[in-house]
Amino acid sequence: MSESRPGIGEPGGVPHLAGVAVAGLYGVRLPDGTVGDVLVDGETVVGAGGAPGEGTALDATGWRVLPAACEPHAHLDKALTGARMDPAAGNDLLAAIAAWREMLPGIDAADIAARALAAIEQYVARGTTAIRSHVDVPLTGDPFRGVDALVAVREQLRGRVELQVCLLAGSEVDDGVLAEAVARGVDVVGGCPHLAPDPHREVTRMLDLAERHGLPIDLHCDEQTDITLPDDGFDLVDLARQAVARGMDAPGRVTGSHCVRLGVLPPERLGPVVALVAAARTGIVTLPITNLYLQGRGLTHSAPRALTAVRALLDAGVPLAAGGDNLRDPFNPVGRADPFETTSLLMTAGHLRGDEALAAVTSGARAVMGLPPAGTAPGERADLMLVPDVPPGDVLAGATDARVVLHGGRVVADTRTARALDLLPDPSRPALAR
Ligand SMILES: [Zn+2]
Repeated sequence: MSESRPGIGEPGGVPHLAGVAVAGLYGVRLPDGTVGDVLVDGETVVGAGGAPGEGTALDATGWRVLPAACEPHAHLDKALTGARMDPAAGNDLLAAIAAWREMLPGIDAADIAARALAAIEQYVARGTTAIRSHVDVPLTGDPFRGVDALVAVREQLRGRVELQVCLLAGSEVDDGVLAEAVARGVDVVGGCPHLAPDPHREVTRMLDLAERHGLPIDLHCDEQTDITLPDDGFDLVDLARQAVARGMDAPGRVTGSHCVRLGVLPPERLGPVVALVAAARTGIVTLPITNLYLQGRGLTHSAPRALTAVRALLDAGVPLAAGGDNLRDPFNPVGRADPFETTSLLMTAGHLRGDEALAAVTSGARAVMGLPPAGTAPGERADLMLVPDVPPGDVLAGATDARVVLHGGRVVADTRTARALDLLPDPSRPALAR
């Protein structure tokens, strides 16, 4: 390594890179397992023959580079409210909604913005540079307080993190309020038809709104394990069919989140649904931690895992994203805002391979969110995550605490961890074989 390049230093060192514009990462472990250089010009990675732009060239020996992660489905307006919840409150989806509505009168725009920022700090520190947050349009108080707060946070953080604000409007919200919410600057239209008295009417209303404003749509679909209704009654089937009929089947335009019912369907029913979704180029977001928490309650045995049919969807070429959904609120009391928490769950509860799990929180999530690819290939966005150079399986297991996170070539988070142990003295410790 050139002695003129400063080193990133040890994973256990002192963080010092936040705010640094990076022109190159030299001697870094690349996603293909080789060691090489990543040259950066502004917000973009350039090839080995290209010229790096202004910025700091870093000696990244001892680090591994990955694409930065995405959180394709958060609820920043609800995040970090768990401590306010009545501990005796229920814990399935409807009970969580009731607990949230109980809290809502005490929640204003400033409160939402403060918690959203605190949650975003956690996501970004752990390697996430793009977040899609759903936001309620409450029926009591100012219906726009969540939208206004998150749109303001998005603008404050522009250039530091990519935040997409997605409506989560219930069927009781009237059309005028919906139109006003869109006008206040949301990026994505969304709702929860599966909770509406007439789900088809609600899917149609949301698609009308998205089509009218030329916006993408991301609906909470089929967040139930009940499959007694015919497949035609699934929100996702309705959404995909209408997307095709309306010519809204461009990649990144239409997304179904949750889609829990698909995970319970027997193969003969699942096959045609997945084929339809693939043909409609509808993206799917699976949210293991929250659906593992919320669904399957009240059953004495054989409780479903409540992930969507991730294997069948991937095999059919459906764009698949994965995230955490709620973060320490009535819908999910735990969560680390960590993409590797999600990859662990995709591997244990969803039985995906490591590379598939990683893709679901990186490239797959970017595709579903309509974002350009990020990574180390020339032309890709320099949204990157550096972790200590341990084997990929250890990274996916979330075993590394130190992370340096780049958004558009700029370091937006630098985390190191210091640890002292009183076990074996270093010289008597056998070397760790790779
Ligand atoms: Zn959600």
